[in-house]
Amino acid sequence: MTVFTTRDFDDHEQVVFCCDPSVGLKAIIAIHNTNRGPSLGGCRMWPYPTEEEALQDVLRLSRGMTYKSAISNLPLGGGKSVIIGNPRADKNEALLRAMGRFIDTLNGRYIGAEDSGTSVEDIKVMNQETSYVAGILEKPTDEDQVRSGDPSPATAYGTFIGLRAAVKYRLGRDDLTGLKVAVQGMGNVGYRLAKLLHEAGAKLWVTDIYDDQVQRAVENLGANAVDRDAIYGQDVDVFAPCALGSAINDSTLAQLRAKVVAGSANNQLAEMRHGEELMKRGILYAPDYVINAGGIIDVSYERIGYDRDKMIKHVEGIYDTLMEIFERSEAAQLPTNIVADGVAEERFRK
Ligand code: NAD
Repeated sequence: MTVFTTRDFDDHEQVVFCCDPSVGLKAIIAIHNTNRGPSLGGCRMWPYPTEEEALQDVLRLSRGMTYKSAISNLPLGGGKSVIIGNPRADKNEALLRAMGRFIDTLNGRYIGAEDSGTSVEDIKVMNQETSYVAGILEKPTDEDQVRSGDPSPATAYGTFIGLRAAVKYRLGRDDLTGLKVAVQGMGNVGYRLAKLLHEAGAKLWVTDIYDDQVQRAVENLGANAVDRDAIYGQDVDVFAPCALGSAINDSTLAQLRAKVVAGSANNQLAEMRHGEELMKRGILYAPDYVINAGGIIDVSYERIGYDRDKMIKHVEGIYDTLMEIFERSEAAQLPTNIVADGVAEERFRK
């Protein structure tokens, strides 16, 4: 396995391979860029079939965090970590504490948080070994209740706001009543996004690897259950990828009937050129790291004194950021992902 010459290596500052055989831990921490501040990004746990796939994922995800923090005007750099293992079978306290100790060795250059396969409780376990974690602070809700540090509600809200911007730009409508949306992935973010869409009057088609997740949406949100591979070809207005990466690739592109792609998943485009393919087909793509920045915005406010109103306003700024990207994209006839990258690079390369 190569690192410096591997396809997804993008001048990452540091890549750390972590192994603790006594607890069965194999993990990788990638720090992409710290020009704007310490790198912050989730710790994902996933049963990657190969080490190459784990490396590819962490390199791409950490790079995405640099762009996400920069485009969201946060004083943070980009980093991410992955634990190789099945979160439903292999996760335990000893493994999480060992991961915490590895994060601690980086002395704050990387700050970990929840991601796919890890929960607030898991990060709290890591917190017993390191202070360099985020997403664990209990926060007020708009009903004067307390919610956990989980950034997923803010991510889902930001994705909902961004989806509205894309629907406004591409379909010319503010009202979501009757809007048809296919949501891939009924996890922490996907389900919450589906709930917000349902409350706004949208009709839903949903899928997941786990039947119980799909069933919850069918029962509570009146969603239509769809087979995993059939989600791309649904006759809908919006396709919302909220599972893992590379949802937009050569095979799925050919099936898409939606006019808008707007979802929370990181690294939605298998390759950069797929952004251009979407544009050629008249499908408006809301760049992943712009639309899914709600969680990092939420978590970043933990570090500067949590002010809920300011945080919500910051998340709602995703609407205007996307509108600007859509307008620039149309004016320059460039794909939205390229336009977004240009804006982010201006901000973190300085
Ligand atoms: P999650 O693990 O809670 O949910 C992901 C869901 O997708 C799971 O239920 C999983 O079973 C399902 N899934 C995986 N592969 C699938 C496939 N091929 N087809 C259908 N379903 C599939 O994760 P999450 O926190 O909801 O995050 C979802 C996506 O959003 C991820 O890409 C994550 O990186 C991204 N994201 C999350 C946050 C956050 O705050 N949680 C922030 C930014 C980005």
